Amino acid sequence: MKFTHDTLPQRVVFASGEAPAAVAAEIGRLGAKRVMVIAAAAEAALADAVSASLPVALRHDDVVMHVPVAVAGRAREAAAKAAADALLCVGGGSTTGLAKAVAMTGSPVAGLPIVAVPTTYAGSEATNVWGLTEGETKTTGVDDKVLPHSIVYDASLTLTLPVEMSVASGLNAVAHCVDSMWAPRTDPINRALAAEGISGLAAGLPAVAAEPAGIEGREQMLYGAYLAAVAFASAGSGMHHKICHVLGGMFNLPHAQTHAVVLPHVLAFNAPSAPGAAERIARAFGADTARSGLAGLRRAVGAPRALRDYGMPEDGIAKAVAPIMAAIPDSNPTAVTERNITALLRAAWDGDEPA
Ligand code: NAD
Repeated sequence: MKFTHDTLPQRVVFASGEAPAAVAAEIGRLGAKRVMVIAAAAEAALADAVSASLPVALRHDDVVMHVPVAVAGRAREAAAKAAADALLCVGGGSTTGLAKAVAMTGSPVAGLPIVAVPTTYAGSEATNVWGLTEGETKTTGVDDKVLPHSIVYDASLTLTLPVEMSVASGLNAVAHCVDSMWAPRTDPINRALAAEGISGLAAGLPAVAAEPAGIEGREQMLYGAYLAAVAFASAGSGMHHKICHVLGGMFNLPHAQTHAVVLPHVLAFNAPSAPGAAERIARAFGADTARSGLAGLRRAVGAPRALRDYGMPEDGIAKAVAPIMAAIPDSNPTAVTERNITALLRAAWDGDEPA
C-alpha cells in the first residue's frame, strides 16, 4: 500500500446545547479580546446566543452566498478598522466562507484565527478551501490560513434550519462523501471517513425530515457532515464538485440545492466504471446498490429534483458543457464527452431519473 494523507490540524468540539460555553472556552484559549462576529441576518439570533458573554468588537451581517469580492473587501476593511483579533462565524457555509475570505492570504488581516459554529451541513468549517466570486466566475483555492482554528458543533443551533434547507444541505454533505470516493487525491483514509459519513447522514437525514424538532437526527447530521468535509478536504474536488462549481458560479444557483440535484446523476455516471467505490457506497447506505441507496434516501426526504426549479436557464446547458469538461479531473472513472455531459446536464435540468 502506498499513499500520502494530510490531516489538517483543527480542534473539534461537539457540544449539543452548550455552544455559548464551548465557544467562550475556545475564544479564551486564543486569548482574543476583540472578536468580530460574522453571521447573516437569518443567523443573528443564533449568533446573539452564542456570543453573549464574549468580548465582541464588531458584529458583521453583510453575508452573500459564494462571497462576491466586494463583500469580502467590506468585511476585511471592517475587521481591520475594528482591530479584531479573532473571527467567530455562526451560520451556514456562506457565513463561514466570509470569515475565510477575511482570514486568507492577501487580506489586510490575513491569519486572524477563526472559531466556526456551523448551523448547516455544508462542511466548509473543516476545510482549508476558500471561494470568491467575481462576475459569473467562482474561484476557489487552498490556504491553511482559512482553516478554522476550532469548530464548535451544537445541534440545537440547527433546529431553526427549515426542513427543505436541511434536506438540501444534508445531501450536499452526502455529495462530499460520494465524490471523495473518486476525487483526485482519494485514499483509503478518505474513503473510510466518507463511508462513515454516508452512514451517519443516511441515518440522520430521514430523522430530521420526519421530526425536525428532534435533536438526535440533527446530531447525526453534524457528525456526518464533519466527516464528509474532512474526506472532501483531503480527497479534493471530483467530477460532482466541478459540475456544481461551474453551474453555481455561472447561474448564481443555490449551493446545497444544486448539489442535491446533480449528485444522483454523477453517481449513475461514475458507478459502472468504479465498482469498488460503488460497493463501498452501497454498504454505507445499507442498500443493494449505491444508486438504490441514494435513491431511497432521496425519496424518503423529498429531495430537490431539477435545476430548472432553481433558476438555471435551459440555454445554460450548452453554455456550461465546455467549462465543465475542462474542469473534470482526467482521473474521473468514466471518460467525459460533450455528448455524455450534455445528457447529464439535460437530465439534471429537467429533473429526469438519472440515465
Ligand atoms: P448558506 O450558508 O447560504 O445558508 C442558506 C440559508 O440558510 C441562509 O439564508 C442562511 O442564513 C440560512 N441559515 C443557516 N443556518 C440557519 C439556521 N440554523 N436556521 C435558520 N436559517 C439558517 O448555505 P450553505 O449551503 O450552508 O453554504 C453554501 C456556501 O458554502 C456556498 O458558497 C459554498 O460554496 C460554500 N461551501 C464551501 C465549502 C468549502 O470547503 N470552502 C464547503 C461547502 C460549502
